[in-house]
Formats: sequence, structure tokens, C-alpha cells
Amino acid sequence: MECVFCKIVAGELPAKKVYEDQDYIAFHDIHPKAPTHVLVVPKVHVPKLSDFPDDETGERALGGLFRTVNRVARETLGLAGYRVVVNVGEKGGQEVFHVHVHILGGWQ
Ligand code: AMP
Ligand code: ZN
Repeated sequence: MECVFCKIVAGELPAKKVYEDQDYIAFHDIHPKAPTHVLVVPKVHVPKLSDFPDDETGERALGGLFRTVNRVARETLGLAGYRVVVNVGEKGGQEVFHVHVHILGGWQ
């Protein structure tokens, strides 16, 4: 298994975990680009956001992911405001090919 985020999900690689449920995990980015920089990651390996199918299954997956982003940002991290970033594909600046949403915040 080559995927870094699959290894974090499996507990084979350490991470500063802030949230976990049956389907998602969230942990601090190793190279933070904001005072608070957390990644929300579905446990299932899907390489990029645009790989979610254009149907109800995809809709549920996307809804679940962004619902979790809000929950982690507001409840776990206590952020009143935050920036959400998803890099999609090599040309979108994606470096880790396992879907993840960046939560950036904590600015004064
Ligand atoms: P992206 O460009 O959207 O693919 O961003 C990947 C992000 O994952 C970058 O911000 C990296 O700093 C972060 N990252 C890479 N490896 C790790 C790791 N082992 N633990 C935490 N964050 C990581
Ligand atoms: Zn993976």
C-alpha cells in the first residue's frame, strides 16, 4: 500500500488526529499553511474529488464529506470562520492522491 493517507487511516503512520468516526478521519497537516490547518479524509481510498460518481452515490459521499468538514471546523476546532480548499488533480495542485479537504483558519 503506497498511499500515505491510507496508512494514516490504518494507523501505520502517525498523525496528529483531531477527529475520527466510522467513515472519516481528520488530522493536522504536516506543513501547516495557516495557524490551524487540518485535513478531513474519507477512510475509503478515492484518489480525487472528481472521481466521485455523478449520481446519488456520489452526492451522498460529497454531502457526507462536507458535513464532516463543518462538524470538525466548528465543533472540534471551534472555528467561527474558516477557509475550505480542495485541490483536484495534478493541474489543480493536488499532491496526495487520496481525497482530502483542507480546513484553514485561526487567523486573528
Ligand atoms: P494537496 O496538495 O491538496 O494534495 O495537499 C496534500 C497535503 O497533505 C499537503 O498540505 C501536505 O502538507 C499534507 N501531508 C502530506 N503528507 C502528510 C502526512 N503524513 N501527515 C499530514 N499531512 C500530510
Ligand atoms: Zn488512500
